Amino acid sequence: KAKAKGRNTHEYFNKALNKDSTHRSMLEQDIYKALKRNEFYLLYQPIWSIDGQKIESVEALIRWLHPERGTVYPLEFIPLAEESALIHSIGEWVISEACEFAKRLSLKATVAPKVCINISSSQFLRGNMVELLSQELSKHELEGSSLVIEITESILLLDQDNIYAQLETIVSQGIDIAVDDFGTGYSSLSYLKKYPVQRLKIDKSFIDDLEENKEDQALVSGILSLASSLSLKTVVEGVETQAQLELLRQYGSPMIQGYLLAKPMTEDLLITLLAEKAPKHSSDT
Ligand code: C2E
Ligand code: MG
Ligand code: MG
Ligand code: MG
Repeated sequence: KAKAKGRNTHEYFNKALNKDSTHRSMLEQDIYKALKRNEFYLLYQPIWSIDGQKIESVEALIRWLHPERGTVYPLEFIPLAEESALIHSIGEWVISEACEFAKRLSLKATVAPKVCINISSSQFLRGNMVELLSQELSKHELEGSSLVIEITESILLLDQDNIYAQLETIVSQGIDIAVDDFGTGYSSLSYLKKYPVQRLKIDKSFIDDLEENKEDQALVSGILSLASSLSLKTVVEGVETQAQLELLRQYGSPMIQGYLLAKPMTEDLLITLLAEKAPKHSSDT
């Protein structure tokens, strides 16, 4: 029964994302209600040092607990939300929720990992990201260094002065900028020179066949050494096997994220995991 429900749900969202305007406006209304009824929540996926010893940061990933359809994943509603003003409401909710979480982390964890937040291009184009972020930081008495903002290459390719100015101001507050899904856009490496970017996240599609595919091996090791020469921190996304991890270790990858080490999890589970990982005091051993 759960399977049938999953399939129907998928069909429903697929129709909405395609040209079906009835489904589309139904979904838009659904999202609007979901915001009012608090049906969205965040999960957090650890980003690890390559030795698996340290959780350097955690990525906030949105989920929707739909009253009839169960868990809905972001790829089923974020693209539609991005075509309307809904993305701004969702985006503001995500930032606020992630900052509240970052504050709780800073109080609970011995060494609090940074919190990475996905931001849609349309949110940047609206031009109020700087205010939004600084409001949230001061509201929760957070240091900028507790956040990482994940953007996609597409925003950098727009090549607008206003984007540049926003990123500069955000970085000046101590927040890191990460380029998400690196390598999947129409990469023009020159933007790495032009924009204030501190991190790259190498897309999972380069990792899936890493063990067999010599081209992926060349690309991934090349990106890793390029990033290191440019003093960019790199996260490899979607690491699922020990063999992939071994290759990435050989290539000098500093950080990894993926099901091999941990899936996205609730705040409670993450706090437990962090407590287990925390360096023990000598008196405990
Ligand atoms: P992303 O930012 O590239 O996030 C990584 C995605 O890969 C997540 O999917 C994560 O659950 C998944 N993942 C991580 N490790 C593995 C692995 O080892 N194997 C596999 N198969 N998957 C892995 P998720 O949570 O479904 O999110 C999908 C995308 O939705 C994200 O891709 C991001 O672009 C977007 N998204 C998620 N949360 C938000 C949000 O709060 N705001 C916005 N604007 N976009 C969001
Ligand atoms: Mg991301
Ligand atoms: Mg990504
Ligand atoms: Mg992705």
